[in-house]
Amino acid sequence: SHVSADALQKFRDGQVRRADLFGIERPGQIMLDGDLHDFEPVLDEHVRAGFVANTERYIDPRLFIDELHEKLLELDVEILEHTELVGLNNNTATMRGSEGETARGFDKAIVATGAWTTPSIEGLSSTRSAFVTSGTGYSYHVKPERLPGYLLASIDRKTIGVPMSGELRVVGLMDFSSEIQEFSAQRVEHLASQASAFIKGIGDKPRFDEWTGPRPMTPNGLPIISPMKQHPNVIVATGHNMHGLSLGPVTAEVVVSMVEGRPGVVSGSEIDMKPFAL
Ligand SMILES: Cc1cc2nc3c(=O)[nH]c(=O)nc-3n(C[C@H](O)[C@H](O)[C@H](O)COP(=O)(O)OP(=O)(O)OC[C@H]3O[C@@H](n4cnc5c(N)ncnc54)[C@H](O)[C@@H]3O)c2cc1C
Repeated sequence: SHVSADALQKFRDGQVRRADLFGIERPGQIMLDGDLHDFEPVLDEHVRAGFVANTERYIDPRLFIDELHEKLLELDVEILEHTELVGLNNNTATMRGSEGETARGFDKAIVATGAWTTPSIEGLSSTRSAFVTSGTGYSYHVKPERLPGYLLASIDRKTIGVPMSGELRVVGLMDFSSEIQEFSAQRVEHLASQASAFIKGIGDKPRFDEWTGPRPMTPNGLPIISPMKQHPNVIVATGHNMHGLSLGPVTAEVVVSMVEGRPGVVSGSEIDMKPFAL
């Protein structure tokens, strides 16, 4: 949605080009004013234009992570909670937990520490050239009297409202910093003001599950999926920018092929991994 019909038209034109390029369904026609508000009554009156993007998908990340965790336990994967990787070389990882530092040997290691993939982990000095920078985002939940029928994305407010499990999850913001920022109450306040500017009935409702997380941003927008030159048994998988959740399954396939010694295979086809190399 957008407060300007012209601006939304421009945005939709770009989405049409993208749909044609990928051979997917084009977005729906633009609805204006009364038609739009009849279609989605929770949109604020200031919102003038909107369209439906049927090809967009979303999940509840909490359910996804819980199910992933359960699956890993089922597969007898050992999960060391509250344990930090502090350093590694070609066959040993050093970790710090409540009982102090311990070393663990490995045949192959995958480092998937998101925006924390920096030289502050000893042995990862070559990640300096990759410049993974934190692009911090925020989310919170709210229970409005009426949920939208669709995920609502405001192009002008750069904020998303996602109906999930009887609640509305509000998501947005992108704060850049070379440091990983702590939660800022002021930023979540700003997100809430952006959201209540285009979604009715949420501004006066209590917020809960307020959360912040750093997106691992790279200068060229491409992820880094690569063995390390000085430690070839260590594969780094990071820098998925804003799309780590969507790209996770493909990255996992690439990483598995690297572990098996067949670099960069997705669905049986070999892909050129040079653009993703450290
Ligand atoms: C507000 C917000 C909205 C998002 N929306 C979308 C979306 O719409 N679609 C989408 O696809 N993705 C989305 N994402 C995902 C995001 O953009 C990233 O791409 C994704 O989280 C990257 O996954 P990752 O596993 O590489 O890193 P992370 O998810 O950051 O995971 C890294 C993990 O490593 C752990 N760690 C760090 N250092 C160490 C250490 N030394 N030892 C042990 N563990 C360590 C951290 O605690 C963390 O759990 C969103 C993220 C945010 C913050």
